[in-house]
Parts: sequence; C-alpha cells; structure tokens
Amino acid sequence: FDLKDEDLKDLRELGQGNGGSVKMVEHVPTKTIMAKKNVLIDAKPSVRKQILRELQIMHDCHSKYIISFWGAYLADPNICICMEYMDKGSLDGIYKKIGPIDVDVVAQVALAVLEGLTYLYDVHRIIHRDIKPSNILCNSRGEIKICDFGVSGELINSIADTFVGTSTYMSPERIQGAQYTVKSDVWSLGISLIELALGRFPFAESTSDDEDDSDYENTLSPARPGSIDLSKLPPRKPKTSKKDKRRSKGVSLQGGGMTMSILELLQHIVNEPAPRLTPEGRFPPEADEFIDACLLKDPDTRKTPKDLLKFPWIELAHLSTINLEDWASTI
Ligand code: ATP
Ligand code: MG
Repeated sequence: FDLKDEDLKDLRELGQGNGGSVKMVEHVPTKTIMAKKNVLIDAKPSVRKQILRELQIMHDCHSKYIISFWGAYLADPNICICMEYMDKGSLDGIYKKIGPIDVDVVAQVALAVLEGLTYLYDVHRIIHRDIKPSNILCNSRGEIKICDFGVSGELINSIADTFVGTSTYMSPERIQGAQYTVKSDVWSLGISLIELALGRFPFAESTSDDEDDSDYENTLSPARPGSIDLSKLPPRKPKTSKKDKRRSKGVSLQGGGMTMSILELLQHIVNEPAPRLTPEGRFPPEADEFIDACLLKDPDTRKTPKDLLKFPWIELAHLSTINLEDWASTI
C-alpha cells in the first residue's frame, strides 16, 4: 500500500548504523508494526527517484529467509525504507546479550543465509554485499532472515563514500578492489558464523576506546571501499610509540595484545591466513569443514552459496529437529 510519513508513528529506536537509523513504527491506518530505516542521501533529485525505483524490486522478493518489504518513499533529505519488524533484533545484539550462540543454532543461521543468498541470486541476480551479524535478523517465531541487501546500484553508489567503518567483513579480493561476486558474500558469511559461535569478532576484539575513529575514517573515506591497494603497504609493525598508541583505533588483535587500526585489519585479512572456527576441535568436524570452505582466500576456489547448500553441515542442519522458537524464547 501507499506509505506516507504522516501515517507512521514512531514507537522506539531499534538501532543506529552507518547509513542512518532504524525505528520501530506503527502504520496507524492499518495498525501494522514495521521497522523504518532512514537513509540520509546526498544526491540530486533524479538520483533519489532512481534509487526509489530500484528499491521497488524488493516488492518481488518473496522468501522465508528474506525480510519482507512494505515500501519506500522519499522524505528529504532521507529515503525511508519500511520493512518487516523482527522482534528479536539482529544476531550481533543477540550474542552480545546471551553470549556465544550454540553451534546447532549457528548451523540454522548458515542454512537460512545460504538459502536467502541463493534465492536473491538465482531469482533476481542480486548479490547481498553486506552479510554480517547485524544484517541477520530473528523473531520470536524462530525465523532467521537477512536484510539490507544491495538491490539498488544507485543507493550503493550514494552511500559508498561514507561507509568504511564496517568493511571488516569484506573478503580479501574485495579489499584489493575486485568486483563483488556471490563468493564475496560467502566469505562474509564465514566470518559472521565464527563470530556467532565464539561470541566475538574473529580477527579482533573491540574495546571502548573509540575516541580516534575519525582519524581513520578521514584516512580512508576519500577512497571507495575496495580501492585501497593494501599489498603496497608496509607490513604491520608492533606499536610502541606514544603517538601510535593514541592513534590506534582501539581494536586489538586476538592473543597478541597488539592493537590494529582499520587499515591494518584490512591488511591482515589480505595477507594472513584466514581465521578458523576452532583450533582445538570444539565444534563438529562438519562445521569446521564448512567454515574453511567459506574462508578460502582465493575466490576462484571458494564455493558459491548454492554449492555450499550441499555441504554435510548444511544437509545435517536441514535434518535437524532443533526448535528455534524455543531458542528464541530464551533471548
Ligand atoms: P551498518 O550501518 O554498518 O550496516 P547496521 O546493520 O547495524 O550497521 P542498520 O542497518 O542501520 O545498521 O541497523 C541498525 C540496527 O537496527 C541493527 O543492528 C538491528 O539491530 C536493527 N534493525 C534493523 N532492521 C531491523 C528490523 N527489520 N527489525 C528489527 N530490528 C532491525
Ligand atoms: Mg543493517
């Protein structure tokens, strides 16, 4: 139906991202609860209209693994995207609240994301481009769905310049400037699944020391994500000087007690071996096998989402009798 700003009543804020904010709203005429995402876009009217046209593709996306779309409209200077409200929020919030997620639930997440990605690509030729725990949502029915996929090329162009901070799920080939393919999403899925199972980001651990963020955003933002040739950068050195300490972004590399800036993290992704689910065999071997396949650094040997659906871990997930509704009730 026809969505208008004046028909939507704000109920509460659900979260804030790089692009804008997401609110829980009620569509008063129909009493429908929705999630409304405001994206601030600095673009000419013709580009805004183009974005709005492109977003309409979401009306044709029907899968139980994809968030449903209520509609989008322009509310200068924002574009408002109204989507299905998921009452348990995103998986990053969930693991931060309840701790590491049980590996059998993580298997169901893998299944849902792969099915969602395969649907988007096979039916609509859409590549997600932003798979990460905050874009995987859950509700009290135990449904797991993906959101924030790259339907609109113009929208991607308009926000690309302001979006650098969360490039850490980016595949090595993307960091080095290669085109996005479905296999880049597979890498991001592998990183996300490790994060959920371990209850922490696999490369680094964020600290509350965010004071110098802007420094690094300034360093990186003139370039499009993916256009930084990290192979030309010098190798990472342990930080010693006082100035370096001050400048470090407050992200520390696991184990070593060293700190890394975003740029160094990107360099690490490109140059170091991919992370693994477990060094000590804590998880089922099928899970390790799956994650290792997602995190092959060479995109030519990495599988597509469709291929990965045939992996033993995912076939087992299909046969599983796990009750996600019960699990969701514990959140
Ligand atoms: P980024 O801007 O880097 O992509 P993000 O995904 O966290 O990060 P947003 O997409 O703006 O940023 O979302 C902000 C938060 O709002 C999410 O973390 C999620 O918890 C919540 N959220 C988003 N969409 C919904 C939804 N449909 N239902 C419920 N909560 C949602
Ligand atoms: Mg998001």
